[in-house]
Amino acid sequence: MKAAVVRQNPDGYADIVEKELRPIKANEAKLKMEYCGVCHTDLHVAAGDYGNMAGTVLGHEGIGIVTEIGSDVKSLKIGDRVSVAWFFEGCGHCEYCVSGNETFCREVKNAGYSVDGGMAEEAIVTADYAVKVPEGLDPVQASSITCAGVTTYKAIKVADIKPGQPIVIFGAGGLGNLAIQYAKNVFNAKVIVVDINQPKLDLAKKIGADVIINSAEVDPIKAIKENTPGGLGANASVVTAVARVAFEQAVHCLRPMGKMVAVALPNSDMSLSIPTTVFDGVEVAGSLVGTRLDLEEAFEFGRQGLVTPIVATRPLADVNAIIDEMKAGKIEGRMVIDFTK
Ligand SMILES: [Zn+2]
Ligand SMILES: [Zn+2]
Repeated sequence: MKAAVVRQNPDGYADIVEKELRPIKANEAKLKMEYCGVCHTDLHVAAGDYGNMAGTVLGHEGIGIVTEIGSDVKSLKIGDRVSVAWFFEGCGHCEYCVSGNETFCREVKNAGYSVDGGMAEEAIVTADYAVKVPEGLDPVQASSITCAGVTTYKAIKVADIKPGQPIVIFGAGGLGNLAIQYAKNVFNAKVIVVDINQPKLDLAKKIGADVIINSAEVDPIKAIKENTPGGLGANASVVTAVARVAFEQAVHCLRPMGKMVAVALPNSDMSLSIPTTVFDGVEVAGSLVGTRLDLEEAFEFGRQGLVTPIVATRPLADVNAIIDEMKAGKIEGRMVIDFTK
């Protein structure tokens, strides 16, 4: 089978190779892959930013059909459509795994990084960790929900926003676009979006943002406060942009006892005013992808049509062209590799 793997000397691109799949173990399932999205995290893995993972099959936005199950598998059957997600497997018995926080397991395995992922014609998953895609959800859209969708859905859950309360989404790109849809259509929040790119902001407005703010043109803190009850600021903010200034603005735009949730991963620190944190009782939190249950819920909202990722399909041979386009910021939404043709 063909697979996109990290190069021997990782340089940010993938090699497409012929690879023999090993036999599955008793707790595993084999998938015939249908689709796999290309994520910025794949670019980091391919570049060796998280260590040299030469030879590893990339991809953690995979959707495939079960073609074989191990002798102990009870959770899946042949023909099921399931995900290959970044959260590939936890230990199952540590404090994080048993408390519904399995993504923070210290023995976690990640698809397309510490284990082979879904950017291949076939893949192996740990059966109990593969989440079923509901009937009626387009598998191309499901691939995008497997990473970007569940990541933003979980972040808004962590933000603890209530219906009608203002929440600010920093960044209106691939992640921000989905965060807006979950915040508006699932959590029924008042959604304020901040970006410096006007076309992305216009798109945000079209998909349901209540207020759009171009931070290259106006002071975003002032504009956010003007759009919140009593001029006090937002109850929560979620940062999907990679600019450090966005993280700092995301704290300063909060009302007392508000909560900032970091999702994007710039390679830098942010400054945090200790007096602001103390006097205003603000919280600063991080959110990392989502659990199996989060993904199941994120899929279900996609199936109901409340959230629609922007996706386009491409052949496997285009993988390095897609990587170049992503680096150049030319892609709106997600490029998804199509293995069905
Ligand atoms: Zn991803
Ligand atoms: Zn664990």
